[in-house]
Formats: sequence, C-alpha cells, structure tokens
Amino acid sequence: MLYNVSMNKKLFVISGCSGVGKGTVINEFMKRNSENFILSVSCTTRKPRVGEIDGIHYFFITKEEFEKNILEGKFLEYAQFAENYYGTKEKYIKQKFEEGFNIILEIETQGALQVKEKMPEAVLIFIAPPSVEELENRLRGRHTEDEETIQKRLAQVKTELIRSKKYDYIVINDNINHAVEEIEKITRDNVKE
Ligand code: 5GP
Repeated sequence: MLYNVSMNKKLFVISGCSGVGKGTVINEFMKRNSENFILSVSCTTRKPRVGEIDGIHYFFITKEEFEKNILEGKFLEYAQFAENYYGTKEKYIKQKFEEGFNIILEIETQGALQVKEKMPEAVLIFIAPPSVEELENRLRGRHTEDEETIQKRLAQVKTELIRSKKYDYIVINDNINHAVEEIEKITRDNVKE
C-alpha cells in the first residue's frame, strides 16, 4: 500500500471529455467542499495561459525537469497530452493526505488508469456529456476551433469514452447543479468518517 489509508482519507480522480464542462463542475464542488477536499496541483510542461499562476494552477516546469522526474520515479502518474507532459507528484499527494485532506485529481484518462493500478482504493469518476451529438454541438458552439481541431477532439472523446468503462462512476453533466450533487453523494459514500 502506497499511502496511509488509516487516516480514512480518499483520493478521487475526475476526468471528462473535452468540452463537457468538467472544470465548472469541479470548481463548484470545491467551493462547496473546501473544508475537507483539496484540488491537486499537477506539474506540466505546457506554457501558462493568461492568468495562470505557478504553484496554484500548475507547477510549470521544463521538459528536461519533467523527464528527470520520470526517470527518478517521482510521479504517481503522468501522461503526454496535446504534445505536453502532465503529471502528479507522489510526494505532493502524500503530503496532502498527511495534512488531512481528501484529494481531487482532475486528470485525463491515461493518468487516471495509472492511479487505479497503483492505488486500487482511489475512486475514479468520469464526467460524460448527455450524448456525443450534444458535445459536438457544444464544441461547435464555442466557435473557437476549426473543423480539423473539432474532428481531432471528437476522436479523442471517443477514446476517452472507451477508457471511461474502467471508471467506478459515470456522472452525466446535463445540469451543473445535478452533476455536483451526484459527485457529493459519491464522495459521501466513499469517505469513512
Ligand atoms: P489543460 O492544458 O487544458 O490545463 O489540461 C489538459 C488536460 O490535461 C486535461 O484533460 C487535464 O485534465 C489533464 N491534466 C491536468 N493535469 C494532469 C495530470 O497531472 N496528469 C494527467 N494525466 N493529466 C492531467
């Protein structure tokens, strides 16, 4: 066992298709549950977007540094996504457990399945769109991506939906409040007080 589970703290992994509104759902969940839950800060090699702060949104590190950490076995999980590396440091998770938090990881599906391998007691939640058609409409509705990008995203969505079959729970995001309440119920059912 990698972590001290006697403290009854749990790790929840939340993934979801691009465009499904997972960020909004997680932010709302965190607003309502910040006393007992912490949102894990990942390492990434991608450049910060406007407004993103190092150490708060991500730990922004170089590719060299990331690869050194891989070789040294520092990651609980990591993945390459859209030509960048993303990963969760094992030490960070241990520290947050020791501080007494339940932890939420907002990560993509390859990393999520690595977490489940190493920590079978972790709970995997997948946020899915009501339908692929609905998601396609949302992606097109943003008017931010060209057709080729939309097609790539949709192919990625299909891969993620296949991987989601290995998750413990699927939450359909047809309504934000609904989705948050469902996640709250899942966490209540899985955290022993
Ligand atoms: P973004 O660049 O938009 O912040 O994130 C891109 C994708 O990387 C999202 O699907 C996000 O969930 C995922 N991601 C963020 N942090 C991690 C991480 O530590 N590990 C893995 N495997 N995926 C991550």
